Amino acid sequence: MPSADLILKNARVITMDASSPLAEAVAVTGGKVAAVGRAADLDSLIGSRTRVVDCAGRTVVPGFNDAHLHLFSLARKLLGIDLSPVSVRSIVDIKDVLKREAAKIPPGTWLSGTDYNEFYLAEKRCPTRWDIDEAAPGHPVVLSHRSLHACVLNSYALSLAGIDRNTEEPPGACIERDLDTGEPNGILVNMLGHVRSRVMPPLTVAELDRAFSMANVQFLSAGITSLGDATYKNDPARWRLVKQYQDSGVLRSRVLMMAGPETRHEFQAAGMVTGAGDSRLRLGAVKFLLEVKPDQDELNQAALDCHRAGWQLAFHAVAESTVEEAIKALEYIKLHSPVAGRRHRIEHCGECPPALLERLKKLDAVIVTQPPTLYYSGERYLETVKPDQLPWLYRIASPLDRGVVVAASSDAPVAPVNPLTGIYAAVTRRAESGQVLLPGETITPYQALALYTVNAAYASFEEKTRGSITPGRLADMVVLSDDPARVPPERIKDIRVETTIIGGEVAWER
Ligand SMILES: [Zn+2]
Repeated sequence: MPSADLILKNARVITMDASSPLAEAVAVTGGKVAAVGRAADLDSLIGSRTRVVDCAGRTVVPGFNDAHLHLFSLARKLLGIDLSPVSVRSIVDIKDVLKREAAKIPPGTWLSGTDYNEFYLAEKRCPTRWDIDEAAPGHPVVLSHRSLHACVLNSYALSLAGIDRNTEEPPGACIERDLDTGEPNGILVNMLGHVRSRVMPPLTVAELDRAFSMANVQFLSAGITSLGDATYKNDPARWRLVKQYQDSGVLRSRVLMMAGPETRHEFQAAGMVTGAGDSRLRLGAVKFLLEVKPDQDELNQAALDCHRAGWQLAFHAVAESTVEEAIKALEYIKLHSPVAGRRHRIEHCGECPPALLERLKKLDAVIVTQPPTLYYSGERYLETVKPDQLPWLYRIASPLDRGVVVAASSDAPVAPVNPLTGIYAAVTRRAESGQVLLPGETITPYQALALYTVNAAYASFEEKTRGSITPGRLADMVVLSDDPARVPPERIKDIRVETTIIGGEVAWER
């Protein structure tokens, strides 16, 4: 065997490979894992050009795979003004920040604020157009809620959006109004996508460059070596852009890019379906949004067409009714064409009672869940989810016990990209507030690691090339400050990523 490019030694290697789960050292050659074993076994691979990293007893795991996030909205968010509870405590604070930021840019230029959360604001309410008008009347302003389900526009932005008291509610969305006058108060529900794509100017090249470099650092510092972009608007232009950022080294993580029911035709015209691309950039599933209630027959037909064209399908389904719509579509497909091995995905699967889980299992479907939302939104779920639905909320242990593959993700920018928060939440089911959601659904740290490694790789048909530290697989690895399986569960969320290795290269070090 030729000498190795890189050797990690003195490590506690959790390989996530059942045939040899633990090791002390890993050798890498040509971007792939060459050998895994005891330090002494690998000594013969040390040559004059081998980089040897002493891990000082720290833990090495396969690189994390965040199976569902949104690259371009994360990019937008990173360019915005942080209005999260860490930065502001009140609407008064928000006004101060906006006033300050508005003074830095010419009037008429858009200002974006992100992550406000009325729950943590002193006034215990969302800011309105009138609040923002006081701070920045000469700039169009959009503030996005942490959930991204709501946003607030000031009067300038509302007029650019053409929204006034006579505007009708778009389907599936809501324009909040002052109860006395009927005048929109600036708060828009489920309209942020519309505002960003139809009202705001597209990001400039310089803005995108800056945002992608920031996103890159976020991914690498969180140990994310692979990610899935689950945006239905992804098209060949975005594909080329991501490729360009990867080629120039701005974006180091590997990307699986989903398409949408419309844009998939553009990919197909170029001869591309699920699986096209290479180990750095690959085409994933066609994403179907079920939030705006589709006609079941139309959905069935559209899904069958995609399936027949060779695509993996990914259904965005949170509520029980939408999970059932996705299942019905898959059952319809199964009547006409085999689904076994096609790994069609249910994204989120927020409510999955036992009867639906049984049906899912028969369809060989994969669940892509978001443990971080248990942590960040658990408190709100406990307050707002109906008691009869609560027992089925983001279940993980039950599907795993039934043999359904579950992969995990952040859904960033909805939640921050930190797999260790997700692993913590999956193991403890604890919200940030400390409350526990469905204690019967806790899983072990190894199971939680699997969600972000082997299972995520399975969800994208890549388990033979990544997801475990196994000879022949891509050398994507992360050095952690501690072993999630050996620290008390409460401390899992404090574990730090020390080093991120992609294709055998140290891409990031703390
Ligand atoms: Zn999403």
